[in-house]
Amino acid sequence: MAVIGIDLGTTNSLVACWRGGRVELIPNALGEFLTPSVVSLDEDGSLLVGQAARERLVSHPERTASCFKREMGTGKRCDLGGRSFTPEELSSFVLRQLREDAEAYLGEPVTEAVVSVPAYFAEAQRSATKRAGALAGLTVERLVNEPSAAAVAAHAGDGDADRVCLVFDFGGGTLDVSLVERFENVVSVTAVSGDNRLGGRDFDMAIVTGFCQDCGLDFDTLSRQQRELLLRQAESCKVALTTQKSVLMLYTGGENGTVSAELTNEWLIRKSADLFKRLTAPIRKVLLDSGTPPSAVDELVMVGGSSRMPSVRGYVARALGRDPASGVQPDTAIALGAGLCAGMKARAEGLRELALTDVCPFTLGIDVQNHADYSQPLMSPIIERNSVLPSSKVQTYCTSQDNQTLLTVNVYQGENRYAQNNTLLGSVQIHVPAAPQGEQTIDVRFTYDINGILEVDVAAKAGQTARLLLKSGDVSQAEAQRRMRELASLKLHPRDQEQNRAIIARGERLYAITVGELRSQVAAMLDWFQRQVAKQETLQIARAARRVSAYFDQVEAFTGEVELPDSMGDWDI
Ligand code: ADP
Ligand code: MG
Repeated sequence: MAVIGIDLGTTNSLVACWRGGRVELIPNALGEFLTPSVVSLDEDGSLLVGQAARERLVSHPERTASCFKREMGTGKRCDLGGRSFTPEELSSFVLRQLREDAEAYLGEPVTEAVVSVPAYFAEAQRSATKRAGALAGLTVERLVNEPSAAAVAAHAGDGDADRVCLVFDFGGGTLDVSLVERFENVVSVTAVSGDNRLGGRDFDMAIVTGFCQDCGLDFDTLSRQQRELLLRQAESCKVALTTQKSVLMLYTGGENGTVSAELTNEWLIRKSADLFKRLTAPIRKVLLDSGTPPSAVDELVMVGGSSRMPSVRGYVARALGRDPASGVQPDTAIALGAGLCAGMKARAEGLRELALTDVCPFTLGIDVQNHADYSQPLMSPIIERNSVLPSSKVQTYCTSQDNQTLLTVNVYQGENRYAQNNTLLGSVQIHVPAAPQGEQTIDVRFTYDINGILEVDVAAKAGQTARLLLKSGDVSQAEAQRRMRELASLKLHPRDQEQNRAIIARGERLYAITVGELRSQVAAMLDWFQRQVAKQETLQIARAARRVSAYFDQVEAFTGEVELPDSMGDWDI
């Protein structure tokens, strides 16, 4: 029986299968490979999925849902024509449609699929994806990370060579950058980063804004439908600019009658310069996190619809100093990779089974006392972001007070230096015998597996043990509470401490972008500086400020070894 591979995207979804010794994309009823991930409930109670539903985003917004992939694994519900659905139910409609398209194409029933998911998806989102499959009548035993699928597709057919691939996946609403390594028959995502607020839609908006500027239109006074219309036109113009030098954008319906402007790629670059600048930060971060210099990257794999934009390709190629791998089709690569994985799952002849591993997309740690400010405990990382999973790490801690007999271990997830700003996952307590400060120690071991289950084992030197089991699904509620606290604590900062505050903020940023030894050094330096500030001796603070700034300059210079150009300069596309 056929196993299919599905790219369940935020904007578009695709399905592929392994047949007759090769991977094939399966067309939908319209003969297209891309099915928009949009669902609409018709007035007669029937479901529309794909292009038809997409059209109804404008005409029937209250009966139509899109971008629900972003809400996967949350309890959020979406109302369509008075009926309420979970994100996984909405996803299941898309999966059901793809399954039907596959059955029509293959002429046989399909009951199993391999589905791709973003590498940063936590367990809650992964299990929601599997449930969506089940709702669509599909057994989804295997999920594959999107960047791994893209890398597998890029390498299909060219042997077993080991290599390091930088996968740049630029879709409709998100940018995901990953480093994927292939060593023998193991494919691992070794670092992930991205910008979940940057995608093709931002270019559509930039085009609309630029067009309104040039034509003297006031976007804010337009009706919702007029705005939608302009956005759609902007998208078509953007797509046209991937194959032609210029395009005429027209708008009819304003008081000035019809207005128009000729758009070119140069114009687009000018109008969206800020968006281009944001493309390189995630690239820098994955290289830095994994300690990979740009020269060690063997291949740049550009996928996602927005990677078709010549201006984006040019910008990224230039920043990384290499051309994107040829022969990789941006919109279909992930689906083809998922199809190859489906073939491997079915143990197809002629396909070598590859093991696909995972990384932890965030840092896990516990809170420890902050000697500079007791009200703000610090985060002590145990498993750092981008550790390859499964991972098991142990750290030793000691009592912070004389005769302390109870230790509370609070487990957090996140990159902030202050524990409170990260997400609290749970707590566990352990008793120790009374002794002078620092004499009683405990070992805290974190074991995190590919299924998103975190085991926290605490063992005191004196013999007691305690254990806590956490599933990443527990996170969403804690996250909502954290956000509430965050908003409630927003206060203005006193002006006279601005300079010190700026130094601290810089240190906190460096803390967030580094890992390992360098991160510990940054933390120690920051800690020392805050203690100097706490002493309130102006001269000492000034000296400390100079010293810390010089050190941060060095860190910056070090992290700058993988510095990529920030400005685009003047280049042609
Ligand atoms: P997702 O992974 O979010 O489902 P896709 O990879 O399908 O998204 O990318 C969708 C985005 O790609 C949309 O913003 C669309 O406008 C853009 N896109 C698709 N084709 C092109 C093209 N030829 N030129 C520019 N942008 C394109
Ligand atoms: Mg995608």
